[in-house]
Amino acid sequence: MPQIDFNNTQVAFAHKTDAELKKAALLFKSFNYPWLIKYGPGLAASVINFLPPVKSLIRNTLFAQFCGGENIKDCEKAIVALTKGKIGTILDYSVEGEESESVFDYTCKEIIDTIHKAATNQKDIPFSVFKTTGIGRMDLLTKVNAGEALSETETAEFAKVRARFDSICQAAYDNNVRLFVDAEDSWIQDIIDSMTYEAMERFNKEKAIIFNTIQCYRTGRIAHIQEKLDSMSCFLGFKLVRGAYMEKERARAAEKKYPSPINPDKAATDAEYDGALELCVKHIAKVCICAGTHNENSSQKLCDLMEQYQLPKDHPHIFFAQLLGMSDHISYNLANAGYNVAKYVPYGPVKAVLPYLSRRAVENSSVQGQVGRELNLINTELKRRHK
Ligand SMILES: Cc1cc2nc3c(=O)[nH]c(=O)nc-3n(C[C@H](O)[C@H](O)[C@H](O)COP(=O)(O)OP(=O)(O)OC[C@H]3O[C@@H](n4cnc5c(N)ncnc54)[C@H](O)[C@@H]3O)c2cc1C
Repeated sequence: MPQIDFNNTQVAFAHKTDAELKKAALLFKSFNYPWLIKYGPGLAASVINFLPPVKSLIRNTLFAQFCGGENIKDCEKAIVALTKGKIGTILDYSVEGEESESVFDYTCKEIIDTIHKAATNQKDIPFSVFKTTGIGRMDLLTKVNAGEALSETETAEFAKVRARFDSICQAAYDNNVRLFVDAEDSWIQDIIDSMTYEAMERFNKEKAIIFNTIQCYRTGRIAHIQEKLDSMSCFLGFKLVRGAYMEKERARAAEKKYPSPINPDKAATDAEYDGALELCVKHIAKVCICAGTHNENSSQKLCDLMEQYQLPKDHPHIFFAQLLGMSDHISYNLANAGYNVAKYVPYGPVKAVLPYLSRRAVENSSVQGQVGRELNLINTELKRRHK
């Protein structure tokens, strides 16, 4: 089996200067302060509008590491840099937390703009992406998902969400651009699934254009994929992830006294993830996958499966993906070995992407036990360059 050397920091960081690596090291070191992670983003959000130095501090640190810019044009630099490393870009308009109809309309238009941008350069921008909560109210989606009766106003409001969802999928199809629908909280996921599979039936007749996201921290995900394989006749697109909202899921299940939808432990999630990869590779003629993961074992597992099923490294139905600013050792080493790789490049106004940045800080802190991984790799590379 082809072993990928994820410890090759020379390949992983060839695109970064010493100064850039030192700056990133300083940022990852700051994630070791739990109080900063806990209170920093909230505090920053409350003062960012009237304290320009706070905005500029965030822009030069968290934002510079994890985002491509404030708008699509700003992201050009990131797109060119990733292309140099043979890595594709997935433009991700990452504005969260705003819930007015005008903002939803604006977001819908912006997502369609990312699709148009991808259409101009499909090789370097292989996918587009969106979150359903970017185009519809969380409480409304929760109500629809639970099968609760809607008022007349709510019915009209939901019709608008559907229209936005459909117009984004239609734009993806018209422009021949593959589109990920991100996965979110389990209490709105059934309605997201149902709209996404409906769109797949409509738009995936000749190839996979619409991709659903499967969160393997949830129980029964392999069975879910199997059921779609058995019941749907179109091409299937799946982005496979572990899932980002575990604590929230478990807390809600405990509070509302229903069985947690999350696998009992990390080993069970890992088995669900790797099993889902295997099932998809087995049916690769019908399925297109994107392994959205920062896990080295799962990335290696997919390489092994491709070898086992004698698939070329650049098989058009198989992609790996990571987030900008994280796990370059996976992205660049896989791309260097000839696999299809892309990175999410989040963008948006600095204040509006704070919730996204806060999640990245938590993920890289001691809170979730990831502390030190990125920092060790950066330090290894700096030592290698100056030994
Ligand atoms: C390109 C890309 C796209 C993504 N899109 C989405 C998306 O649409 N929706 C979404 O929810 N997330 C998304 N994510 C985030 C993803 O779900 C994970 O949170 C993140 O990538 C960490 O998981 P990992 O596979 O990288 O590896 P690891 O670091 O090995 O796994 C950590 C993950 O394992 C699971 N886990 C940890 N402890 C336990 C436990 N005790 N019991 C059960 N499970 C446990 C959790 O899901 C945790 O996030 C995306 C990530 C990437 C890279």
